[in-house]
Amino acid sequence: MGYLKELFGLDGKVALVTGGGRGIGQVVSLGLAKAGAAVAILSRTGADETVKLIEAAGGKACSLLADVTDEAQVDKAIGEIITRYGSLDIVFNNAGVCVHKDTFDASIAEWREVLDINLTGEYVVARSAGRAMKERGIRGSIINMASMSGSLVNVPQWQASYNASKAGVIHMTRSLAVEWAPYGIRVNSISPGYIATPMSVDTPQELKDAWMPLIPQNRMGDPEELIPPILCLASAASGYTTGSDVIVDGGYSAR
Ligand code: NDP
Repeated sequence: MGYLKELFGLDGKVALVTGGGRGIGQVVSLGLAKAGAAVAILSRTGADETVKLIEAAGGKACSLLADVTDEAQVDKAIGEIITRYGSLDIVFNNAGVCVHKDTFDASIAEWREVLDINLTGEYVVARSAGRAMKERGIRGSIINMASMSGSLVNVPQWQASYNASKAGVIHMTRSLAVEWAPYGIRVNSISPGYIATPMSVDTPQELKDAWMPLIPQNRMGDPEELIPPILCLASAASGYTTGSDVIVDGGYSAR
């Protein structure tokens, strides 16, 4: 047990989770806290509920307000995390949005918003956190939220902007991994399939019925099932892993 705790444990580490007020970000924030990390949660509308859940479990957490697309707000939030906890070791770059629309119906403003939040937002957060890590000699781990939609076109819903944004996240991840390896900063992405959260659970039943035969495990994933791979990427367990994309999709992309 001591061996596993040494490899996967996060005692004394400080994590930033974007979009941790609900959905996957909330569940993973709790998982990181249970592994020992202090967790700072960044979102536009606050994450008081997540902070309460973590504190009730005996962990440390705080909620910071910022829009991931706003560089000044993100820099300020990261400065606050370092002042409060003295470090920043782990980033789960999770905030994201999706627009399901036929390309001819979607507006250019919608395309720009999805790319701005999902791709530029992750770049802004990774850059600000990476700079803070490099300046302090922190050998940190950045985990970018991609999606299986970054490597394949899942059907029958149309979401060209989302797919393009997540493909960008996967290659941005590789680019930063190579660029920052000399500083000891690791950068990986995670690509879930359909996970049961507000983003996907509120989708029409006929859409979910169309998804099921395409998922070899014939079910959506639970957000909790993302915690172990994220813990692995966040911890010393994955010391030689950088620039990787970890797929967690019930077999969807293997078909
Ligand atoms: P939710 O909609 O439940 O949560 C999204 C979170 O992102 C919210 O906390 C929201 O908080 C935050 N957010 C959105 N825009 C911004 C912004 N501009 N600045 C700061 N925070 C922002 O989504 P999920 O939990 O389902 O998804 C989380 C991530 O996982 C996304 O990147 C998504 O693409 C990815 N993903 C999800 C899958 C799924 O099936 N659910 C599958 C594969 C990937 P607020 O509005 O307060 O800012």
